[in-house]
Amino acid sequence: MYSEDDFIQLSALQHYLFCERQCYLIHREMIWQDNLFTAEGNVMHERADEQKLSRSGPDIKTETALYICSRTLGLAGKADVVEFHKEGNSWIPFPVEYKRGKPKENRCDEVQLCAQALCLEEMLSVSVKQGAFFYGKTRRRVYVDFDDILRDLTKDICEKVHLLLKQEKASAPIYSKEKCDACSLKACCIPQICGKSAIKYIDEIMGEK
Ligand code: SF4
Repeated sequence: MYSEDDFIQLSALQHYLFCERQCYLIHREMIWQDNLFTAEGNVMHERADEQKLSRSGPDIKTETALYICSRTLGLAGKADVVEFHKEGNSWIPFPVEYKRGKPKENRCDEVQLCAQALCLEEMLSVSVKQGAFFYGKTRRRVYVDFDDILRDLTKDICEKVHLLLKQEKASAPIYSKEKCDACSLKACCIPQICGKSAIKYIDEIMGEK
């Protein structure tokens, strides 16, 4: 069991799977900068908060911007939308995350959604079997089953993030054009310079490798 002082944010899991250094800079060194991608993401979250994208009906109740946590995993954060689906006499939580873009090839979004399910299960003592994403680009829901493999992966990433954030300093950046060019922290991280000697960097930009 973790104490509240040791809780990490839900978003740290996704940041970790994107880049360990980004996770450390955001969640340990408290560095944050918006770029186009994060600004678009913020708009999606605001729209979710305003319930413009969520469902409701006699068998579905919806809560937005719901604070959730798990003492077992040491996690806390805000769920965009949690629908409660009526099943018999029970209302079963069904987390929905709003994302810019389209479904990713890696599992970082799914891990974040599964972490929400694990928090809801612990808080409400219910089983949460499924959730969904609404992607801004495709304007469609993608359903996610919280199977054992995804649950184990999520718990494993949680432990790794807790260990990472106990480190005294960030690891050196590993430059990847695809990731770093999309990263809002590129200007602070300076991945093409940090982690290598000044002479090597000058050699590279002078084309003398
Ligand atoms: S710029 Fe690249 S190495 Fe640096 S935090 Fe972002 S993704 Fe990670």
